[in-house]
This record gives sequence, C-alpha cells and structure tokens, in this order.
Amino acid sequence: MLADAQVPGELQRLQQALLQTRQQILEVQEKVRAGLATKDADIFDAHLLVLEDPSVLEEVMRLVQQEKVNVEHAYHMVAEKFACALAGVNDEYLRERAADMRDVAGRLLNNLLGRPDHIDLRHLREPCIIISHDLPPSTTAQFDRSKVLGFATDSGSKTSHTAIMARSMRIPAVVGLKNASKELATGDHVLLDGYNGVIIINPTDQTLFEYGQLERRQADRAVQLFALKDQPAITLDGVRIMLSANIERDAESGAVRESGADGVGLFRTEFLFLNRDTMPTEEEQYESYRQVAAAAKPHSVIIRTLDLGGDKFATYIDTTAEANPMLGWRAIRFCLHQPDIFRAQLRAILRASAEGNVKVMYPMISGVDELTQANALLDECKAALRTSGTPFDENLEIGTMIEIPSAVIIADALARRVKFFSIGTNDLIQYSLAVDRLNEKIAPLYEPTHPAILRLIKLTTEAGRRNGIRTGVCGEMASDPVLVPLLLGLGVDELSVVPMMLPPVKHLIRRLKMSEAKVLAEFALGCDSGAEILVRAQALVRQCAPDLFDHQKPS
Ligand code: PEP
Ligand code: MG
Repeated sequence: MLADAQVPGELQRLQQALLQTRQQILEVQEKVRAGLATKDADIFDAHLLVLEDPSVLEEVMRLVQQEKVNVEHAYHMVAEKFACALAGVNDEYLRERAADMRDVAGRLLNNLLGRPDHIDLRHLREPCIIISHDLPPSTTAQFDRSKVLGFATDSGSKTSHTAIMARSMRIPAVVGLKNASKELATGDHVLLDGYNGVIIINPTDQTLFEYGQLERRQADRAVQLFALKDQPAITLDGVRIMLSANIERDAESGAVRESGADGVGLFRTEFLFLNRDTMPTEEEQYESYRQVAAAAKPHSVIIRTLDLGGDKFATYIDTTAEANPMLGWRAIRFCLHQPDIFRAQLRAILRASAEGNVKVMYPMISGVDELTQANALLDECKAALRTSGTPFDENLEIGTMIEIPSAVIIADALARRVKFFSIGTNDLIQYSLAVDRLNEKIAPLYEPTHPAILRLIKLTTEAGRRNGIRTGVCGEMASDPVLVPLLLGLGVDELSVVPMMLPPVKHLIRRLKMSEAKVLAEFALGCDSGAEILVRAQALVRQCAPDLFDHQKPS
C-alpha cells in the first residue's frame, strides 16, 4: 500500500507513461503509413482514443488516490474491467475495442515497468522480413509464419530466447546486427541468410542465383538426413547417445516425432504463460502437458517448471522493473515466492504423469535449499492428489538444471537428491563469464569453448557419474554440431536439441567415434585458449561430416 506522500509521485508516473505511450503509438502509425498501409494505420487512431479515454483514467486515478495501490496495479485492474465488459458485448465493433484496450494497456504497463516497447504486428498483410531494433520472445512467439518470412534485429545474440524461438518456429533470423534498423527502410529489398548470420541489401541477380542453389542443396540435404529418422544416435564405436528435443509449445509435438527424437528433453513451459491476459488455469496446463506426454510415448518428456522473468514476462503478473532481471526474480525464485502459481503447475505436471513418461525439472537451482523447498511443495501436491484419488506416477523422476556456477560447485550434493542433471549452457555461460546473453555488444565474449565452461561441464558429468545419475545438455551448445563431440568427450550422456537441428546432430554422432571425442575433450581440458579449442573442434567435425558445412555463404 502506498503512503499518502507517494500518491503525487505515482500520478506523475502515470502522466509520463501516458505521454510515452502516445508517442510510441504515433511512431508506429507513422511507420505503417510510410509503408502505404493507410487503412491499417487507422487501427492506431482507435488505440489513441482508448489510451486517452477519460473514464478509464479517472478510475485509475481514483484507485491510486483512495485505495493507495500503485499505478501499474490500478491501470491493469481498470483496463481489464473495461476489456472484459467490451468483450462481452453483442457488437463486433465494440468487441474489437476490447483487444485495443488490452493492447494499449500492455504497452502502457511496459512503459511503467521500464520494459522494452510492446510491438504490434497485426497490421501485416503481406509476407515480409521484419527488421527491428529488438524483439521480445513473446512477440516472436506470436509471429504468423505466413507473413513473417524472417527477421533481423540490432540487439540480441544466438542464445536469446528470441533466437531460440525463431529456431523452434523455423523462422530464418539474424540477431545482433547493431544498426540494421537504422540503415534499412520499409520497402527495401533484403536477402536474409540465417545460416551465416548476414543480410544482403538489394542483392544482385548473381547473388540471388547463388543463394537459390544453396537453398536447393539444403533442401536435398534435409531429405537425406530425414532418412536417419528411425536410426539410433550411435557412434561408430557403438556408444548410444540419447538425443531428445527442446520444445516451447505443445503444438511442436508433431515436429518432435518427425525429427526422430528420443522424446522431449526440455519443455519450456513458460511460453504458455506469455501473450495472454490471464494466467493459464491448472486444467489448461494439464491439457498441454498431457498432449505432449501422450504424443511422446513411450519416450519421456522432461517438463521444466516455469522460467518466467529474465527476458520473459507475463503482463498480468505484477512485477516491478529490476535493474538486473537475469539475476533477479526469475524461474525457481519466482515460483517459490508464488507458491499458488507453482502448486497449480506441479499438480498439472503430476496429473499428466499418469498419461505418459513424464519427468520434472527445476530451472535456476543455485543451492540445495531451493531444491528442498521445491520438492516440499511437490510432495504436498502429491499428498493432496493421493487423498483425492487422482492418479499420477508415484515414481516420477525429479531432475535439476545445472545453469548457475554454484550448482556445479555443489553438484555432488544436488546429485544425491535428484535423478538427473541437465546442463543449461545458455545460462551457465552467461553467469560464469558474466556475459549477458542478450547483449550484442559483448557477444564475442560469449564463448562456449571457453576453457572455464568446458571444465564446469566436466565437473558436472563427473559428479553425476560418482552419484550414479545421468547428465544431459539442453542448452544451445547441444544443437551446434561443432560442439557436440566436445560435450560427448566431456562425459555428457544425453543431448536435447532444437527439433530442426536433430537430424544434423544425429548424422554427426553416427559418423563420430567416442574415442575421437575423448581425445578432443582431453586436448580442450589442457588448453588455455577457447579459440584454439574451437578450431580443433571444427577440424574434427569437418573430418567426420564435411557435408555439414555446405551452407557456407556464396562468395
Ligand atoms: C539454458 O539456460 O541453457 C536453458 C536451456 O534454459 P533457457 O535457455 O530457457 O534459459
Ligand atoms: Mg536457462
């Protein structure tokens, strides 16, 4: 509750956010007009009317002054009340205004919370390439694949959730271009090469021809690799590697099956919580997990509990802006502070475990206490389900992600308490090297082959072995064929990769000897230079599977 003295400051924040939001809406409208979509630009007139609606603003101010709630809460409550009322009206025009109300509220709340601008791409009518300064993962997840042929951003890096989402949705993308959004204008022609991370402005006929050939070669390669679908991922010297898939949405179950994966090694459940106005119910979560578990049978599905925060925010959850969201109220920390939200998810997972081979995994575990607290809540949910006679798998396996350096250091203690480890290299690299995984300015420092990272992976697999549990990798390192031999040589038992990369990774494993991977890892552990390790890793992969390098850009 606000103190009386805080009320004027709060109202001042509202005025500033209103001005900022108005300016953003006008800018988007201008861009749409410049693209000659004049009719589409009218949408934003409606947004301005909603933003400045006196009845909404009066009620927000009244709540702040009388109820002493902060302006984010007040605006959210009022906007939702108006949106629900409009959504229930028997008039199509007014019902559409409910969507406008929510859109404007999302934009205004982002401004109050200091989050990146909310991007509205509903006006897209024709297929195009999006060039933007930044794109949050929630916006990327909403792209209409028939309209968005690809995208490029100034900011971000290969392991940002926006880039991960693009790979899942098979949208060609290039991130971290620094100035693309300033150098390009609506209507320019660009060729976007996601394989090599470049965009070519106004490509010549010769370039288009060469890329046409490259596309054909890639399509032929995809057909050849598809033939491996039902073959196991087994090295030339007979070591079987579990190769599973990472997914963000239940709709990807089909892609998992088609890729020939050994189930799902990472289900990022937070994506069900994004791009909506209310929290998914337990029932909705259960249905989503049940579908994935049923489709993967008899293989297993590792359901990772919510990893909200960092770069993934749900607008209906009242979070205040943080100076360092990646070090803040994220993942298991958020869930342990919000036990009702966590319990609903745990119940949904437990119930889905009756329908398939389900395992549960906690993200961002930094110490034993968090694991103990999460397990206590899980046990509580199990007890309640037993009492109500609701079926679940009594032997449900619990695992933890290893993505914070402290978890590696205490890996033995964690290993004694879980059934499996899954190394999240995306975050492990970010937290160990102190390199923000979203920041393109320091992207060259984000080095998966840094000797410290390889030693951390080795320490984790050794702790796993000592305690009789298996260690997988579900970070993007596992999806990069160049890095796969290193991971296997370091003792990793399982890899979980983006479905699109599963065929090339399997192809490589089938052409590799584990003895070669071990020699590489031994070299790497004795080497001080990440660059040197990378060169050696590339040489081994080129030797085993030279065809995987076919996508390199035409001269
Ligand atoms: C990771 O950190 O490597 C990981 C798999 O989790 P996420 O990318 O969702 O943070
Ligand atoms: Mg992570």
